[in-house]
Amino acid sequence: MTESKKNILAFSFEELEAWLLDLGWKKYRAKQLLSWLYQRRAADFEEMTDLSKADRALLAEKASLRHLEIVTRRKSIDGTEKFLLGLEDGNRIESVLIPDDNRLTLCISSQAGCTLDCGFCLTAREKLKRNLKADEIVGQILTVQRTLPEESRITNIVMMGMGEPLANLTQVVEALKRMISPIGLGFSPRRVTVSTAGMVPQILKLWEEVPVNLSISLNATTNEVRDQIMPKVNRLYPIEELLKVCKAFPLPSRRRITFEYVLLAGVNDTPEDAARLVRLSHGIRCKINLIPFNEFLGSPYRRPADQDVLRFQDILHHAGLTATVRKSKGRDILAACGQLNSEVGAASLPLVQPVRRTQTPTSALPC
Ligand code: SAH
Repeated sequence: MTESKKNILAFSFEELEAWLLDLGWKKYRAKQLLSWLYQRRAADFEEMTDLSKADRALLAEKASLRHLEIVTRRKSIDGTEKFLLGLEDGNRIESVLIPDDNRLTLCISSQAGCTLDCGFCLTAREKLKRNLKADEIVGQILTVQRTLPEESRITNIVMMGMGEPLANLTQVVEALKRMISPIGLGFSPRRVTVSTAGMVPQILKLWEEVPVNLSISLNATTNEVRDQIMPKVNRLYPIEELLKVCKAFPLPSRRRITFEYVLLAGVNDTPEDAARLVRLSHGIRCKINLIPFNEFLGSPYRRPADQDVLRFQDILHHAGLTATVRKSKGRDILAACGQLNSEVGAASLPLVQPVRRTQTPTSALPC
């Protein structure tokens, strides 16, 4: 039975090399195999046509090559596609493929469910089932990539799907290494973004290991409001501590931190909030990404009117900040930011309100 055999994708690159040496292979041949696994989209040892028949048979005898199971695949009217993926223990996660101009971004998950309890996020309703392993994180890319036409490539990765990546630091770091390694998926670190709700000690640790883009979900300008909408994380790491680490962050020149700010009508979208956001971000090389709240059935919050979003953005612009409004893609299939949930995601839930079109300038990161 293949299931009892080790999945070759679960090996780190070093482990794979050692395993192949044990099988009597020369060291350099690990690269040949890695290229099939990570760059040439092989889903079976039989597809590895530059390996001898005997080598392919040996690999198949000793290990298996298993991608994630695509349970459902739903396409939005705007071209965004949501994949519900099955893990081997029966848990399910979601990944979202977002085509935009000349980019093809995949938004991936880091946990089944989520450690945190942010009140505006549908994933939080699911609670934490478990952390994903590195191969399950990277597996989302491999699985989705294989569904694309040969000439089509995923260009950007955002870790903004289900879960809090920095609550699963070890596996996330290993997965990021496989993503940016030239012998792995080969993404430039500038095309990979990790989004965190603000787990302060882990932020520096992440950056020491892999210098990818960092997005921080600030979402409020006072601890009072942040405690209310992001209780777990803000009680551990209140705004001052989060901003302190952002100020101390060893950002290379020309790189900026992104602050994400979910706009919730009447909660954190006032001109006073915008003015406070200007003050809080002072001294930090950053840009602000405003995300008008994406509604879901039973959510306690509302999406602000377009003119309120614009007013908020204007205040930031007048203070000289770069502030974009994120396009909400895939809202009709619950694929936008904060709408991922492996339980309700599978069903066709209606939106609370019809999708409104935003006319405001938008950001590079559709979600
Ligand atoms: N846990 C990580 C990554 C997942 S959430 C984090 O908190 O950053 C990814 C982004 O979506 C975050 O900026 C989050 O604040 C935002 N988000 C969550 N729910 C949302 C919703 N319903 N509408 C709009 N944005 C939402």
